[in-house]
Amino acid sequence: MNFFSTLSRTVRLAFCATILALSCASIAQSPAPVAYTISLVSPEQHLVEVQIFLPEGAAQREVQFPVWNALYQIRDFAQYVNKVRAKDRSGKPLLVRELNKSRWQIQGADQGAIVEYQIYVDQPGPFNAQLNTHHAFLNLAEILMYPVDTRSAPLHVRFSHIPEGWHIATALASSPGGEFTAANYDRLVDSPVEISNFQESDFDEAGGHYRVIVDADSADYDMAKIVAALHKIVAAATSWMSDRPFDTYTFIYHFPRGPAGGGMEHAFSTAIDVNAEAMKQSLDALTGVTAHEFFHLWNVKRIRPQTLEPVDYTKENYTRALWFSEGVTSTAEGTVQLRAGLLDEKQYLYRLGEQITELERRPAHLTQSAEESSLDAWLEGYGYYHRPDRSVSYYNKGELLGVMLDLAVRDASHGRASLREVMQWMNENYARKGRFFNDSAGVREAAEAVSQANLSLFFTKYVAGTEEIPWDDFFRSVGLRVEAIPNTVSDAGFTASRNFDGPMTVGAVTPGSEAEHAGLREADIIVELQGRAAGQESREELARLNPGDALSVKVRSRRGGDRELKWIVGSRQEISYELTDLDQVTAEQHARRLAWLKGEAQGAVVGTTGSGGTETEKGK
Ligand SMILES: [Zn+2]
Repeated sequence: MNFFSTLSRTVRLAFCATILALSCASIAQSPAPVAYTISLVSPEQHLVEVQIFLPEGAAQREVQFPVWNALYQIRDFAQYVNKVRAKDRSGKPLLVRELNKSRWQIQGADQGAIVEYQIYVDQPGPFNAQLNTHHAFLNLAEILMYPVDTRSAPLHVRFSHIPEGWHIATALASSPGGEFTAANYDRLVDSPVEISNFQESDFDEAGGHYRVIVDADSADYDMAKIVAALHKIVAAATSWMSDRPFDTYTFIYHFPRGPAGGGMEHAFSTAIDVNAEAMKQSLDALTGVTAHEFFHLWNVKRIRPQTLEPVDYTKENYTRALWFSEGVTSTAEGTVQLRAGLLDEKQYLYRLGEQITELERRPAHLTQSAEESSLDAWLEGYGYYHRPDRSVSYYNKGELLGVMLDLAVRDASHGRASLREVMQWMNENYARKGRFFNDSAGVREAAEAVSQANLSLFFTKYVAGTEEIPWDDFFRSVGLRVEAIPNTVSDAGFTASRNFDGPMTVGAVTPGSEAEHAGLREADIIVELQGRAAGQESREELARLNPGDALSVKVRSRRGGDRELKWIVGSRQEISYELTDLDQVTAEQHARRLAWLKGEAQGAVVGTTGSGGTETEKGK
C-alpha cells in the first residue's frame, strides 16, 4: 500500500543545515524538542494516554490531528480522542479551544505546555492502531497530534505502562535512555511500533541488516522458512535496483486467524498481515505482499510524486501517480519474485493473464483512466465506487501499464533499456537528489531518457486516456499473444469487494438472479460465506464454486440484523485472457523474453542470439 514523507524530508533538513542555515536557525537551535509520552494505560479498554510536551515558544499554539494516514482515505482519527486538555509546566490548566474537528488552539503556552488526551485504539491490521491485552500495534499518525508550528522539528517519544514481558520493535532510532527519536513528525509517523511478546529473527544480506518481527501463534509459522524467503526477496530487489538506501530494515508480521490481509510500506520498515490459514497453505501468501511492500521503500517512499509532498494531513492529498507508485510497484513485485526464484515463467504469465482478465472485464476501463483512478483513490471507502462499471483499480491497470511500459522501452531502445533502467534513472535523478517527480510526466521523462525515444502516445492513450491497450502489439516482441477464451463460469449473482482490511460488502446484485430472489441487497455486508468468516480468501472461495452448487451466506444490512441466505449458483458466459506463445517464436523473440523475465535490458544478450531470424517451435 502507501506512503509517507521520510527521506525527502531528512534530505531537506540536511540542506537546511548547510545551505539555508539562517532560515533553519530555529530548528538547529531548538533546545528542547517536542516530546511525546505514550502510555498504554488500559489494554482491556483499548485506551492510550498521550502527553505532548511543547517547548517554550509562542503563547498561542495549535495542535492538529491527521485526518488520514496510510490509506488514501479520510478516516478522521480525532473521532477516537477523548477530551483534550493542556497545562503549563507548573501544572496550571491552560485554555484549550477547538478550532475544527481535528485542530485545537492552546493559549498561554509561551513558557512551554503539556497537551494531554486519551485515545481509543482497537483497529487491527497494518493500516491501523490497536491496543489490546495481546499487543499494541501503532501507526503513530493515528494517535499523535502534531504542533502545527514545529512539524518539521526533531522530537522524542517515550512509551510507558508497558505490560510485563512486552518489548518494543520499531525502525525509529532509540536513545540510551529508552527514548525514541525522529528528525521530524513525518519521519516519526512513518515508523509503526509493535509492542508485545513477539518473536524476533534477523539476517544480513550484502551489507544490509534485516530484522524480522513476528507477533503470531508460533504454531502458525516457521521463522526459518520466512527468513529464507525474505533473504531471497531483499537480495533480488536490491540487486535489481543496484541500491540499498538504508542500513537496517525491519519486517513486522501478524498472522491473524480471522480475516486479514495487506501490507503497509514505510521507508525503513513494513507491517504485513497474512491470514494464518493462508500461511499454512503456502508461503506465497507472504512472499508476494512482502516483495511489494519492500519495493515501496524505493517506489513511493523515495521515488516520490511531487503531488504527495508535502503531506497534507488536514485533507486529501490528490495525486495522479498511484498507477505508478502502487501499480508499477506490483509490476516490480512480479519481477522481484521471478528473480528470487519464487515464481516461474508459467506462473508469472498465468498471473499476467489474470490481471488482463480483471481489467478487460470491468466496463469502466473504457471510461476511467489510470490517472483518474489514482485521483479517485479517496472514494475507495465507498461500496458503490467498486462496481465494475464505475472504476478500475490503479493497482490492476498500473501493474499492466508497468509491464507495457517495460516492453515499450525495450522496443524503443532496441533492447538497451528496460523498466529497470527507468526505475534506476528515477532513483538517481529524483530520490537521491531529494527531488520529487512530476506525476506521469516525470515517469515519461525517465522512460524517454533511458530509451532515447518519444513515448508521448503511450502516456496519452493508456495512462491519461482510456484507449484499449493493444496487448498483442506489446507482447509480440517477446513471442507472446493474448488469447481470449470464452468459457462458462459460475455466477453467484453478485459482486462484492473489501476496502483494504474492511468487511466484504456487496457492490451489485444481478437483476433477476438467484441471489436477488434469495434477498441479497446492495451494500449488504457479508459476514460469513459457506459457514466461514468472510475475508481475504472469500473471493477465491467464490471463484471455486461451480454452477449448481449451493451457496450459503450470512449477511448484515446497514440497519443491522443478520440474515441467513441460501441459493443455487448460476452461470454465465465470460471471456478469460491467457498469454500464449506465438505459433512461431523466433530466436530473437526468445532472447528478448529471457531478458524480459529477468527484468534486465538485453544489452549483453544482443549478438549472442545469432541472426535473429531463426524460427523455433511453439512451446519452447
Ligand atoms: Zn502498495
